[in-house]
Formats: sequence, C-alpha cells, structure tokens
Amino acid sequence: MKILVLNCGSSSIKYQLFRMPEADVLARGLVQRIGEPMGQIDQQSPAGNFRLSEPVPDHGVGLKRVIEMMTEGDGAPLRSVDEIAAVGHRVVHGGERFTQTVLIDDEVIAAVEENVELAPLHNPPNLQGIRVARSVMPHTPQVGVFDTAFHQTMPPRAYLYALPMSLYREGRIRRYGFHGTSHRYVSARAAEYMGRSIEHLKLITCHLGNGASIAAIENGQSIDTTMGLTPLEGLVMGTRSGDVDPGILLYLARSRGLSIDALDKLLNKQSGLLGLSGKSNDMRELEKLAADGDQDAGLALDVFCYRIRKYIGAYMAALGGLDALIFTGGIGENSPYIREHVCKGLDGLGVCLDVGLNATAPRGSECDVSAYGSRSRVLVVPTDEEKLIAMDTYALATASTK
Ligand code: ADP
Repeated sequence: MKILVLNCGSSSIKYQLFRMPEADVLARGLVQRIGEPMGQIDQQSPAGNFRLSEPVPDHGVGLKRVIEMMTEGDGAPLRSVDEIAAVGHRVVHGGERFTQTVLIDDEVIAAVEENVELAPLHNPPNLQGIRVARSVMPHTPQVGVFDTAFHQTMPPRAYLYALPMSLYREGRIRRYGFHGTSHRYVSARAAEYMGRSIEHLKLITCHLGNGASIAAIENGQSIDTTMGLTPLEGLVMGTRSGDVDPGILLYLARSRGLSIDALDKLLNKQSGLLGLSGKSNDMRELEKLAADGDQDAGLALDVFCYRIRKYIGAYMAALGGLDALIFTGGIGENSPYIREHVCKGLDGLGVCLDVGLNATAPRGSECDVSAYGSRSRVLVVPTDEEKLIAMDTYALATASTK
C-alpha cells in the first residue's frame, strides 16, 4: 500500500511517498516558492533526481505536478494517482479537540478552521493542503496528524497559565505544546531500543532543531512540555527567544513605543541564538565561531545549553525520576558538543554521559551515549515525523477499509 505524506506551508509543499507497512520511502521532494513568478520542485526517487523550475501558481497546481513527476519515467514510484491509498497531512494546531490522529471529513475541516486563530501562520496552509488533496484525489482517505495532539494528556497544573480562568474557559488560552509527532516517535523508538515497555518508563525527550522543545513523558504520555500557546515559549531557539519575563514586553512597549508587530519580529525573528550571538542562528556556524574564540557565540551556546539543562532538572522533578534522556532534531542528533554541555553537571542527578561515546556516536542511527553505571540512560534517537504520519495514516486507512 502506498501512502503520501504532505506537509504544506504557506508557499511550499514537503512530501514523501511511502510503501507501507514496510515504511520504505519511494520518493520525497519539496515544492517551493508557490505563488511567486518562478517556483521550484525538487524530487528524489529511484527514477532519478529532478529539479524543475517553473511557475507554481497555487498548491493545487503544485500537488498535481508532484503526482505527475511521481508517475513519469522508468522506475517511477507510481503507475497512477489511484495507487495512492491514503494521504497523511501534518496539521500544526489541533487545539483541545484533537487528541489523536483522525480521518478527515467536513466536520474535521470545520474544527481545524476553528483553530486558525490559535495558529494563524500554520493552519491555513495545512487546510489548503487538505482541500487540494481532496480535490485531486476525491476518493482517497485523508488523515490529519496534529503537532499538538500528543501533549493533550498534560494535566491542568501543567497546561494552565496563572491568568484569569476566563481567558482559558472563553479564550482557550493555555499551553498546547508542539513537535508532538517527534516527541511521540522518539519516545516510542527509545522504549523499543531499551527493550522496555513504554508504559513503565519516565522519559525526557529533547527535540533540538531550529525550533526546539522538551517533553516530559510518563508511561507513554506527555505530562509537560516547554512550548506553550504558541511555539515561542521555552527553550532558546534559532531566532526565537523562548522564555522571557513578560514584563519585558510591557517595558519595551511603554518605554520605547514598540508596536505589536515590532515585538513579534523581535521575539520570533531577531532573538534566540541569532540575537545572542549577533552572527548566526545556525548551530554549526556558532560552534565554529565559538571554537575560534568568538565570545558572543560562546555565550549564546552557554545560554542555549543552560536553559535545556534547567528544564531537564525541572522535568526530572515533574516525573519523579528518569529512565532515559533522549536527544533528537538537527542539533540533538548531530552535535556532540551540545549534548556534552547540556549534560555537564547532571551527574549528581544520575545522568552521566560518556564523553568518548558521545563524540563518536554514529550520525543517523540510534545509540546509547551514557556512561557505564549511569542511573538514567542518555540516548540519541533520530526523529522521523513523516514516517510516524505514514504509520498513523496506514493504520487508519486500513481500519477504515476493514
Ligand atoms: P528544523 O527545526 O528547521 O527542522 P533541524 O532539525 O533541521 O531544524 O535542525 C537545524 C539545526 O541543526 C541547525 O542549527 C543546524 O546548524 C543544526 N545542525 C545540523 N547538523 C549539525 C552538526 N553536525 N553539528 C551541529 N549542529 C548541526
């Protein structure tokens, strides 16, 4: 059975075609600059690697072109569009309504629309992708996988902000958390790697990429996470500030007359690693700069690691122990330096990293980098959100045809 996974942004479509249940990737690609005078489609498949530069006026044209490309040439991964048995869509905000993956119907679309105000940048292009896929493949089941769903198990003490309750009851202002698909995937993989049932594990998963978040997971359920109503809260990120004293915003608005848009730009685009270093939001570059003696880059890395360490301590307290600390995401999977500096000083809490194993951990595979005798294991687990979306979609599509 072939499953197409779509992740639609405002001007892009990221996609992967899977053969299930093996989860073999048959094709993957990216449509960029939709709606601009010149678009670009890159696709990799056994039939070859293609780059097309042509106008892609909207997502509908983009998706049709992608499917054409997957059916053309020797070794094409699809004979026709009818071979796609189901489509899995990444949807950023599922609000309180979606606690798990669902088959999409008109009612689900209406509910996702209701969440647009909670994710004005992300949900509209996700919805667009769903509508377009339904029109191109009207008889194919469509499935929605929500970034927020995994965190819906958080108890009120973790998801409530200490604001007037009416803001939650009437305005739905609360912690939702994101990266749920990644936290769910790596926690399940970690349990399997450890040969233990996830129902008996206390885990902390650190998803460290351009966006970054940590989750505390008890018995397979998220009990707390660092991102909040929006993906701005918590860790220091590439260009996002993470936690700041909310009073700073009031101060900047009052004393410097900063507008809402200026504050938005400041917190989302000009802060984080970029803001602290003044040079880059890219971890590879910052590590190089710091090694060459750039003090601001060094300071940015120090703030980044310290914030993560602080949350690990907090979540160990929330969980009342820790069986494994898991690193994932572009930084978590690839940066021995960051893993080492995050874990520095955690020995007293029973989290001991083996510096040698950590430095030589093979990229792209699951591995244990904890020191002999460490109470908690320290694991590196590559994430694969698309694969989990494909697995969920396969499970729902096969259940719906039984
Ligand atoms: P996104 O959130 O955009 O999906 P990724 O998970 O791809 O981000 O992570 C991107 C980050 O990973 C960048 O800061 C990049 O510098 C960092 N990264 C990738 N490879 C390495 C590496 N070998 N060492 C350190 N950082 C790395």
